[in-house]
Amino acid sequence: MTSGDLERPLTKVVGGKTATALAKSFGMVTVNDLLRHYPRRYAKRGELTDLATLSDGESVTVLAEIEQVTIRPMRQRRGSILEAVVTDGKGRLSVTFFNQAWRERELRPARSGLFSGQVSTFRNKRQLAHPQCLLFPDGVNDDPEAIAAFAGELIPVYPASGSMTSWQIAGAVRMVLDTLGEVADPIPEAVLSDEKLLDLTRALHLIHRPTDFTEVTAAQARLKFEEAFVLQVVLAQRRQEMSHLMATPRSVVAGPLLTSFDRRLPFVLTAGQDFVSEEIARDLAGTHPMHRLLQGDVGSGKTIVALRAMLSVVDAGGQAALLAPTEVLAAQHYRSIRTLLGPLADRGRLGGADDGTRVALLSGSQRTAQRRVELLDVITGDAGIVVGTHALIQDTVEFRDLALVVVDEQHRFGVEQRAALAAKARDGTRPHVLVMTATPIPRTVAMTVFGDLDISTLSELPAGRTPIATHVISTREQPGHLVRAWQRVEEEAAQKHRIFVVCPRIGGTGIEDDLEIESGETAIASVLDVSQTLTRELPGLRVEMLHGRMSGDEKEDVMARFADISHPDGIDVLVATTVIEVGVDVPDASIMIILDADRFGISQLHQLRGRVGRGSLPGLCLLVTDADAGSPARERLLAVASTTDGFELSQLDLQMRREGDVLGSMQSGRRSSLRLLEVVRDEDIIERARAAAHAVIDADPQLLAHLDLQLAIGALTSDEQTEFLEKA
Ligand code: ADP
Ligand code: MG
Repeated sequence: MTSGDLERPLTKVVGGKTATALAKSFGMVTVNDLLRHYPRRYAKRGELTDLATLSDGESVTVLAEIEQVTIRPMRQRRGSILEAVVTDGKGRLSVTFFNQAWRERELRPARSGLFSGQVSTFRNKRQLAHPQCLLFPDGVNDDPEAIAAFAGELIPVYPASGSMTSWQIAGAVRMVLDTLGEVADPIPEAVLSDEKLLDLTRALHLIHRPTDFTEVTAAQARLKFEEAFVLQVVLAQRRQEMSHLMATPRSVVAGPLLTSFDRRLPFVLTAGQDFVSEEIARDLAGTHPMHRLLQGDVGSGKTIVALRAMLSVVDAGGQAALLAPTEVLAAQHYRSIRTLLGPLADRGRLGGADDGTRVALLSGSQRTAQRRVELLDVITGDAGIVVGTHALIQDTVEFRDLALVVVDEQHRFGVEQRAALAAKARDGTRPHVLVMTATPIPRTVAMTVFGDLDISTLSELPAGRTPIATHVISTREQPGHLVRAWQRVEEEAAQKHRIFVVCPRIGGTGIEDDLEIESGETAIASVLDVSQTLTRELPGLRVEMLHGRMSGDEKEDVMARFADISHPDGIDVLVATTVIEVGVDVPDASIMIILDADRFGISQLHQLRGRVGRGSLPGLCLLVTDADAGSPARERLLAVASTTDGFELSQLDLQMRREGDVLGSMQSGRRSSLRLLEVVRDEDIIERARAAAHAVIDADPQLLAHLDLQLAIGALTSDEQTEFLEKA
């Protein structure tokens, strides 16, 4: 048994030319890379060839018989066009070649073959221009693929590229499999037999060359399990390692700061907030670092819970850092924390409370002098709470005694950001870590991605909240409704309420506009255009913009004026891109109008509308679209309008999105570790793999008896996109 077999370079096995093409198209280097390029589907004879269903632009491989061949000279230029009409008995397709009259010899009527290319329409006829083709020999048919086809066996259909067709890949795979010995298996034998799974060698043969679908299913089951298992072993191992890390216990007894804060709170905590606070307090009092995920829908009151945890570690003599994904959010957190703390945020300053602390903000747009002051507060420990973006705090800041890191990643599954858990604490100990996320994460995803975190959930919204009403407005069918919406904006503004108008793009570069015109679409709402129009059409109102091309200072200034109702330069209507999507908290905002709402995803829309109705005002969200009734885009909007249950929506979102997006950066690399496993559907497999992984790690934490598994883990964790696994 040699794992070396799988690590052999492709050049040695399939020849230089093919190996180069495979490397170029798919980044494949080793035999393993090629064998892990599984067929996308399997076709039976006849199934490949449904010529009736081809549509324009599709890249296809068809199996068809040549009916007739004609050659004619080109009109404008010298040279000739060869046209073959091919058929599968049901439909017809024209296959054309330019200046390849020699092909007439091989393209003879009654001969069959595979044709692969992009479908287009020419003079009302479907055609493949310049396809690649593989003709089966007449008479005795000695082409293995063709024999397979004619014998009714399954033909693997591979994800192909312009330079490597599915059958060329199949050819390379065949060469590799023919010389493949028994390969090493990362799944221990005991697990294989418990789970009744094929070994790796057999699974690789069957996934590429099955004779029937039973074999495909068995091979897939084994390979899926392997993906889940290896990942779960990594997580289990990491969890074990973490249990050896030490943290300074931070007292459970409420100190003066937290007590004063609770007294200041204008509301009572919900039962959920109380419960989660206790979970966190227990963790903080432990000698191992907390790694906890706090999930709760937008507005469920996570920030208060996190702040109370921060105050409790300050009471215990430590410091807390709050990491936000953007500058705007950091500034926002800073402002709202200071507001919530009141005099408690200004210890040692005029009007500050003695039992208080200080809050430092580290911002990229800060002046050096200001930054120095803030940094000093951090180093001396005078600032108990430090707010900034991931980048700022990770790189340059020294704490006197960092006890707790709160990572606010909102709805992003930004796993790599958890690298922020870096050791900043003293004496070889680690800080406690709390990650907040606003997208309720389905259990399977949590197990897959956050397998090493404990999870707390805030499932109820604070009382007194009127749920947001959401409506879809079709610009085609209900233009009157949009007019009415703008009137409503004026009415709300008259009552000193704030209005968000969200656009999919910033505009102003000209390039996008050209593209729109070329593609024949109507222009998509842009912040620049819409704010101009609204300034003109709503003359009594103060309209401002917020978008990503503005500087940090500008953005902060606009947000401050929009959030503060008594500001002399207050803003009524904020026209913004999705920069406002995450965490922005303006209690007086009552309406959000999202233009071209179909351009946004389900979770994004849910996050966006969470910006209104956060105070006691009832929220209204209008999703404006020109998508056709019944279209998937329109259905998505209706789904968002039909429920405010973030969990339900995130499930729906997951079903509609590709798996890769779900796992975020972890899956974005070319060598994604999950090929067959679908975290949403394969809950069962993940659960079993997790149990098996824990059993293996419990018995053998270093995997000393499992060298092959060690190798598989090495391959997984050395991939760039999983770098976070080591850092965390
Ligand atoms: P999240 O961070 O989960 O989106 P926040 O913590 O920002 O939610 O809370 C949203 C709003 O609800 C804030 O204005 C906050 O002050 C308020 N809030 C939080 N907890 C409660 C509570 N128990 N009762 C009433 N209002 C609350
Ligand atoms: Mg928040």
